[in-house]
Amino acid sequence: MAKQIIQPVRGTRDYSGSDMHRFRQVMETIGSVVECYHFHELQTPIFEFSEVFHRSLGDTSDVVSKETYSFTDRGGEHITLRPEFTAAIVRAFISGGHTQQLPFKVWYRGPAFRYERPQKGRLRQFHQVGVEALGASEPWQDAQVIACAYDALKALAQLHGDDSPTPFDVTLELNTLGDKASRDAYRQMLVEYFRTHVGSLSEESRIRLEKNPLRILDSKQEEDRAIIADAPLFDDALNEDSKAWIMQVQEILHSLAIPFRLNPRLVRGLDYYSHTVFEFTTDRLGSQATVCAGGRYDGLIEQMGGGAIPAVGWAIGVERLMLLLEQSSQHMHHPLLPMLMFIVMDDHALLSALHMSRDIHAIGYAADIITHKHMGKAIKKAQQQGASHIVVLGENEVQTGTYSLKYLATGESFAFHDTEKLIRLLAASFATTRE
Ligand code: ATP
Ligand code: MG
Repeated sequence: MAKQIIQPVRGTRDYSGSDMHRFRQVMETIGSVVECYHFHELQTPIFEFSEVFHRSLGDTSDVVSKETYSFTDRGGEHITLRPEFTAAIVRAFISGGHTQQLPFKVWYRGPAFRYERPQKGRLRQFHQVGVEALGASEPWQDAQVIACAYDALKALAQLHGDDSPTPFDVTLELNTLGDKASRDAYRQMLVEYFRTHVGSLSEESRIRLEKNPLRILDSKQEEDRAIIADAPLFDDALNEDSKAWIMQVQEILHSLAIPFRLNPRLVRGLDYYSHTVFEFTTDRLGSQATVCAGGRYDGLIEQMGGGAIPAVGWAIGVERLMLLLEQSSQHMHHPLLPMLMFIVMDDHALLSALHMSRDIHAIGYAADIITHKHMGKAIKKAQQQGASHIVVLGENEVQTGTYSLKYLATGESFAFHDTEKLIRLLAASFATTRE
């Protein structure tokens, strides 16, 4: 009977080869941009007490009501794998006693977990990289945080030869959810409006009508769309303070030459936002259009027991950016990274190869060893493994003590007798390979 092959869990995947390369490129490029914006990396556990997410996201959010991976551990604790990072970052901020050190500017990266219907750009284990500026109390800080996301996307697109003002054809969509007074007024208007259409609303939206009517605007149900189209706009409920806030954000974005589009229907999937909300969307990814989403969440930290501290942040979906990179790099040629392969054909040479390769690692270059009796096959294998250079260690080389470093791309060879010379040759050759 054939052995059954074990598969990855639905909605999870492995990352290797060029995908792994893209994954790292996304993480590293974004990481270096956000560090320039003075965010420091913070790493939290991948699971928290379930309460961390229930308290922060609210019981009516999709994420908490349908998408969490939760379990009771052997000690009886209710545990949830993080579906997003913001709540965990706020938990770390409070439990770490950082509330007196404001602003607390951190960035994060890592896997998040949501029980969703898997499709392109939508996984059950996916990755996010994001920033949170806790204690950021002014509109210019919203603009700065948005500029940071924009610059991160731009840096990534530039690596792939895209230097346009709309990297990956993204559109920055901007909206305001106002302050609490405006939101309460708007909520009232919405409840009145939706009540008159309650018979035609989806069941999900009918439930939200009492608990969180704003979320109805985010409904993806067909029967809700037409009703939503005629719903009152937030603008009608915004007070002067809230209007002034979002105007200032817009003025700064204009001045920084960051293009955006106002989208009065934009609400975020989670419950805790206020004032500025934004998304970077692209039409290159079908219905998984949002690559970065964020906004201001002035009430969250207090809600979690940390005092009235305002904050703003965003999260980028790493896999969606990887898809965009894959599309835009189809015509790119991947540069061959410098890598030296020792081909050991004589058993006596193995130890020399191990010694020499460690000397090469010590100066920061990649080197590895293949043992093989057949020269042609060995070279082919070295190429398959990504070698840019080879050194053959056969009987002849071992006896004469004369070796040669071969550059596979050009066929050039350079003779050497000792490791010092090899390192000099390599350094010179790798420098040109890198260009
Ligand atoms: P969507 O509307 O696409 O479900 P969301 O509003 O649930 O997104 P957020 O909670 O704002 O998403 O998460 C921020 C970003 O993380 C999203 O814009 C997206 O790029 C990414 N993301 C969210 N859920 C997934 C998922 N299941 N698989 C892959 N990426 C995801
Ligand atoms: Mg979602």
